[in-house]
Amino acid sequence: MTYLDANATEILRPEAREAVLAALEAGGNPASVHAIGRAARRLLEAARETIAARFGASPADLVFTSGGTEADALALHALGAGRRLIVGATEHDAIRSAAPGAAVLPVDGQGSADLDALRRELAAGGPALVCLMLANNETGTLHPVAEAARLCREAGALLHVDAVQAAGRVPVDFAALGADSLALSSHKLGGPPGAGALLVAPALSAELEPLIAGGGQERGRRGGTPPLPAIAGFAAAVQVVGDAAGLAALRDAAEQGAVAVGAVPLGAGAPRLPNTSCLALPGVRAETQVIVLDLAGVQVSAGAACSSGKVARSRVLDAMGAGPLAGEAIRVSLPWCARPEDVDEFLTAYRAMAERLLQRAA
Ligand code: PLP
Repeated sequence: MTYLDANATEILRPEAREAVLAALEAGGNPASVHAIGRAARRLLEAARETIAARFGASPADLVFTSGGTEADALALHALGAGRRLIVGATEHDAIRSAAPGAAVLPVDGQGSADLDALRRELAAGGPALVCLMLANNETGTLHPVAEAARLCREAGALLHVDAVQAAGRVPVDFAALGADSLALSSHKLGGPPGAGALLVAPALSAELEPLIAGGGQERGRRGGTPPLPAIAGFAAAVQVVGDAAGLAALRDAAEQGAVAVGAVPLGAGAPRLPNTSCLALPGVRAETQVIVLDLAGVQVSAGAACSSGKVARSRVLDAMGAGPLAGEAIRVSLPWCARPEDVDEFLTAYRAMAERLLQRAA
């Protein structure tokens, strides 16, 4: 099997697996006052320190959640109340479905957010919350988030950044970005699923209105017993992630090999994640490509993997003006441990597919 679908879920890092198992063995609830509870609390706080330090926040400003979707939902709930919402056209459904009626910022042909449109929206005045992702999950396109943060600050608006795909692949420094909140997800950087975090600017963090009140955990900002094994694995993964710059050469080899047999790369003209390539095969439905490659032992996806197995036309590629190619593109996303052999396997399967299906489409 050749797994090239890391943007759906990264391959679990061995350090994360060890940490999950150790925390499961140790047991305990961080809220208990006895010795086992106190040890669990130490593990929770050590994880908080590791993750906060790695992404440029103070531990007091990190709220653990169940994943990226909940971190996005918490930001919208806590920071969006009483504010006009402005969201990027290619935001993940974690944002789009939690922000009905929001003003939508268009993107250019490479998927990069239009900052002039942001300026115009901000000029409309009134308190606003802007949501802009750092890296897109389908194309890997990196948005000009630091510049957006500056525009938001000047206009007195808040900025939430979804860094779920960027964290662990490109440098992410919350304080340097100057955003007001930032979402992270464990399983996108080689930790286990079931944990995520929201980093919040110090001025807003103490009073954050919870989405789930529960028993007042996370200093009243997120109720519920924290999933300590998942959080311990999340921190262990964060400790070992570098950035994924080394994957760019492999990704480029995969992309060039595919282009040589007729693929059209989408979003490749913008700064993007080093592990991601979005490849359209004109006239061949994305779903067909995913199935043909799967039968050849190569796993890729089309559109967002989160939409429960459905392969729909890509809303992201539509927003980029890709036309019919929006229904004919697959996402190749290399995991942290990808090897040259994986690219060879991919290209063998891709070439065979292109030869067979392009002839039929012609
Ligand atoms: N944001 C982005 C950009 C994503 O790609 C995803 C998942 O694909 C999410 C948020 C949701 O994260 P999670 O799966 O941890 O809920």
